[in-house]
Amino acid sequence: MNCHEFRQSLFAYTEHQLGDGERATLEGHAQACSGCGDLLQRASELTCKDFVAFLQAHLDDELEPEQARVFRRHLEFCPPCVDYLDAYEKTVSLGREVCQADGGLPEEVPEQLIRAVLEAQRRAT
Ligand SMILES: [Zn+2]
Ligand SMILES: [Zn+2]
Repeated sequence: MNCHEFRQSLFAYTEHQLGDGERATLEGHAQACSGCGDLLQRASELTCKDFVAFLQAHLDDELEPEQARVFRRHLEFCPPCVDYLDAYEKTVSLGREVCQADGGLPEEVPEQLIRAVLEAQRRAT
């Protein structure tokens, strides 16, 4: 396993979707490679699911300092969550604008995305 493969499997690892052999390979790489070992440790601190669960509290500034720290650390190594946070913030501010203006949603934000965000939010609570 190389570092690239490691990163690709990391998500499945934290979500407990890997078989025993794959887990062992991944953990073996993490032990041999200090960079990836560090990543694995961070990924175990906060999974993507936790990240989504913390998202609203983060936006409301309600996270404990320790939670906020692991939340930000997650963003450093998880591009999908960076994208997700981006989309989420856009959707939230969009929602506010829509409430104020009482108009339809602008074309740029696909309805599909909004639904995906709302769906993930619902699952997280
Ligand atoms: Zn590595
Ligand atoms: Zn993530």
